[in-house]
Amino acid sequence: MDGIYARNVKLGYANKVVLADVNLDIAKGEFISIIGPSGVGKSTLLMAINGNVKIFGGEMRVFNQSLHNIKNTALKEIRSRIGVIFQGYNLVKRSSVLDNIAGGMLRKMHPLQAAVKYYRHDQYEQIYEYMRAVNLEDEALQRCDRLSGGQMQRVAIARALAQDPEVILADEPISSLDPVSAKGVMDTLQRINRQYGLTVIANLHQLDYARRYCSRVIGMNGGRIVYDGSPEGLDQETVAGIYHGSRDNEPLFGVDRAPFPVAAGVVYDA
Ligand code: ADP
Repeated sequence: MDGIYARNVKLGYANKVVLADVNLDIAKGEFISIIGPSGVGKSTLLMAINGNVKIFGGEMRVFNQSLHNIKNTALKEIRSRIGVIFQGYNLVKRSSVLDNIAGGMLRKMHPLQAAVKYYRHDQYEQIYEYMRAVNLEDEALQRCDRLSGGQMQRVAIARALAQDPEVILADEPISSLDPVSAKGVMDTLQRINRQYGLTVIANLHQLDYARRYCSRVIGMNGGRIVYDGSPEGLDQETVAGIYHGSRDNEPLFGVDRAPFPVAAGVVYDA
């Protein structure tokens, strides 16, 4: 399979296993959210797909390439096919929207061309296409530090698109945003998922956005995947199971705070 595949995978950092027994099959074009309490390993799972996390055991394949003992050149090739966006945007804030998006094309540019910010006509056309895809064509020359948080996150999405990826990993893309901006970012992720057929995998803190936008939800708790299915399958009991032991105040069907003791961030010894 040319997507993402994991069987009985143990993941973590240095000598610490964070996730035990991960089993996943993700096909091209899915729009998936990963939900669960803070510290439960959502980012770890997401970053594992990018080869940024240690694999202690099991089999993990991305684009049909095993991540176990992978060589640097093969890892670079995988990463070139994956765009990543972060909660903090990671933009060059003093540069324009256009130059930030062009930053996603660096791999396809001569270093000198990138240094003097000289783009060919076809590259300009591509940059403008991505700007339109994220609804920012009117802000091309605006410095990023003059934009709202939602606009900055949409620049980050366009920059990821400019990389011409097959998969977008979004690590808490809307956690710092107000509801209107968050909706704009989720609408944009949905649009690029549909328009470009990209696989989108997003860690979300907000259960209602996961339900509304995603075709599949992965719920995590206690270092494991405890739910993997459709948003429709997220009934009250399932949600309670995902957030069990969490202090996160998710809006659980009108309940402001999960009524459970705290036991988030379970970590197993390697
Ligand atoms: P979540 O995304 O669900 O909030 P994380 O994946 O960020 O959870 O973290 C899961 C666990 O891994 C936590 O105990 C966290 O402290 C630990 N962790 C995260 N990143 C690192 C790292 N770079 N090195 C060591 N431990 C880490």
